[in-house]
Amino acid sequence: MNEIWNLEYETMGRDELRALQLQRLQMTLRWSYKNVPFYKDKWDGAGLHPDDVRSLDDLSRIPFTVKEDFRKAYPYDLFAVPLERVVRIHSSTGTTARPIVVGYTRGDLNTWAELCARVVTAGGARPHDVAQVAFGYGLQTGAFGLHGGLERIGASVIPASTGNTRRQLTIMRDYKTTVLVCTPSYALYIAETAADLGFDWGELNVRVGLFGAESWTNNLRQELEKRMGLTASDNYGLTEVMGPGISGECPLKDGLHINEDHFIVEVVDPVTGENVPEGTEGELVFSALTKEAVPVLRYRTGDLASVTFRPCACGRTLARHTKVYARTDDMIIVRGVNVFPSQVEDVLMDIEGIEPHFQILLDRKGPMDEMVVQVEVEPAVFPDAMRQLVEFERHVEDRLQEELGVRARVKLVEPKTVPRHTGKARRVIDRRS
Ligand SMILES: [Zn+2]
Repeated sequence: MNEIWNLEYETMGRDELRALQLQRLQMTLRWSYKNVPFYKDKWDGAGLHPDDVRSLDDLSRIPFTVKEDFRKAYPYDLFAVPLERVVRIHSSTGTTARPIVVGYTRGDLNTWAELCARVVTAGGARPHDVAQVAFGYGLQTGAFGLHGGLERIGASVIPASTGNTRRQLTIMRDYKTTVLVCTPSYALYIAETAADLGFDWGELNVRVGLFGAESWTNNLRQELEKRMGLTASDNYGLTEVMGPGISGECPLKDGLHINEDHFIVEVVDPVTGENVPEGTEGELVFSALTKEAVPVLRYRTGDLASVTFRPCACGRTLARHTKVYARTDDMIIVRGVNVFPSQVEDVLMDIEGIEPHFQILLDRKGPMDEMVVQVEVEPAVFPDAMRQLVEFERHVEDRLQEELGVRARVKLVEPKTVPRHTGKARRVIDRRS
């Protein structure tokens, strides 16, 4: 079951790895300083020259890069190479603000495929697999990134893209798909549609799910594995740093291995920006070590996790971060209490009879925030008697309050009431402003 794509780098000794990281960091600092005025100006302003970084301990002297820097640089101001050397451009959809634009040289695409090859191999994909990629093929990085990795290992890749769920299932059955690649929300929707259409998972061949691009809990993993009869792994990445391929789970599923020969990971206090000790939760910060087109140093991801450098029983020596349950961007504040949608998911999935579909509605009633959690329940347990219904709602409200520290009103709804998503789920509707 455990197979390692690149033994040399994924099982490298820590001392050797750190020496390689320093060498690549110094190279990328000089490259960025010379070719990207944004970095030169910023570092000059901070009194830092690339030659001042002599050990990995000097990393913390480098100023952070944040999402806003990408927005201000729209479209090409963070590019370190002329456009004739760029062979691919991706961007965020940017529905609320200026999009984030990134480019890749031929060398960058080669690195990207290599790193995604490691991630899909760790997740269980093999050369003989038929892999159906049900991420949207478009501006975003998810589909193309994992597609490249799957092709690199020699799998037969089906670029199904997202949507048309009935056709996805037909492809899955007729083309004998063994690996499914999509968001966990879409996987759930596919499973539900399969049940509605009377598809028998027994006649499908899917054995591996590579699910990513949104936060999801271990409870949802168990649910998907049970419904679809596969082994599901998480992988992580973000457009600003590269896209998927930054990290992924091995068969032990005890954290996501970070491709540290290409990225240095740090964990910082989200408020002070100071590094926190190993094992402490904080905001993930990545420095890319080998990117040519859009180098990025100390990028603050807004994703909360902790990191361990302890060796893993799978044989990989690469550090692991915990599953990202919470993004600082996702956090909602209800009556002064910080709440993450993943906490709500965790509680709900633990309660018998509740379907893994929910939505959080936020309103303001006078000076007070009101939080309503719409929850789907299985038809069999949808209580007929009003009294039972109210009791069940109270029970769910109590459980949520224990976990969240704030009271939410629970509204039970019939299956298929909460909107379904073929990409990332929209968990929160905030109508307070
Ligand atoms: Zn491992």
